[in-house]
Amino acid sequence: MTRTMRGVYFLEPGKLEMREVPVPEPGPGEVVIKVESATTCGTDLKAYRRGHKLFKPPMPFGHEYAGYIEAVGAGVTRFREGDMVMGINSAPCNECFYCKRGKQQLCEQLEGRFNFGTYAEYVRVPSYITAQNLHFKPAHLPFTEASFIEPLSCAVLCATYTGVQLGDTVAIIGVGAQGLMQIQLMKAMGAARVIAIGRAKGRLERAKQVGADDIFSSLDGDPLEYVKSQTGGHGADVVIEAAGTAETWTQAMLMARKGGTVIQFSGLPGGTQVSFDATHLHYGEITMKGVFHATPRTVEQAAQMLDTGIVSVKPILDGEIPLSKVEDALLRMQRSEVIKLAVVPSMAD
Ligand SMILES: [Zn+2]
Ligand SMILES: [Zn+2]
Repeated sequence: MTRTMRGVYFLEPGKLEMREVPVPEPGPGEVVIKVESATTCGTDLKAYRRGHKLFKPPMPFGHEYAGYIEAVGAGVTRFREGDMVMGINSAPCNECFYCKRGKQQLCEQLEGRFNFGTYAEYVRVPSYITAQNLHFKPAHLPFTEASFIEPLSCAVLCATYTGVQLGDTVAIIGVGAQGLMQIQLMKAMGAARVIAIGRAKGRLERAKQVGADDIFSSLDGDPLEYVKSQTGGHGADVVIEAAGTAETWTQAMLMARKGGTVIQFSGLPGGTQVSFDATHLHYGEITMKGVFHATPRTVEQAAQMLDTGIVSVKPILDGEIPLSKVEDALLRMQRSEVIKLAVVPSMAD
């Protein structure tokens, strides 16, 4: 008799379904994980609301995870049954045009290499992920925090792009999960002053809690004016946009001082056009970069940050929920009631 499990499926924008499906079996090089935590993610919310180019429903849902190795496939030597692990949901091919140019996050094979289905009791992890992006979970780290390794690995890639220097002033627009992790990374990398910009006071308090030196609510005035007033009129050395609107993309560019760096972290809906002040970009010698996803190296770094506590994700986690509450969780995220929740499949409904 085949063993079955419960898993949440994404059918179309606005529609999820709980299904009873067979427990997956590992193929060669693969592992099957008993999911202990699958954190909800802004990307899941985006897909649920309006669809997403990387999501091809109907499909199993959820992509962040930590848990126990339930079964290992032929040829897997690094992991054994019962190991506690955490990982991300893709891995590069290391053979394509972009991989050869050191841009594994832009791997041409990536779209077909995303693994979904962590909002379930068990998930199968393909061989390329098992080999490159699956890590041992430190014993002291709760599963619910370990499953942050995926969003943190993206935050780490962003941090490496900033070129932040000791003593810099960094402005971070957006105090969701990414903003709150980036505050901590910028402080760890030597920023003297991190200004967190958001709206809701509760979120901004959390920014303080994780290490922001200064907070500013856009409900209280113009963030651009504020950052200028705090930097002798110059603007910030580094600006990270993590709020996800065309307006904040424009604002981020203007917020950087001459010679400064702007990282556009948040993805906007396909076809979005953003306008910039060309004078500031050109005469101000602004460096503006986009950043997408993660690499095996930043995943490894994220594992280290979680292990050492250099990044603490506990203040970002709003609680634990059972599988049956995934849709409810996304709606709560949409209403900005919570930032992130850990779906714990063993939890009773
Ligand atoms: Zn995610
Ligand atoms: Zn590739």
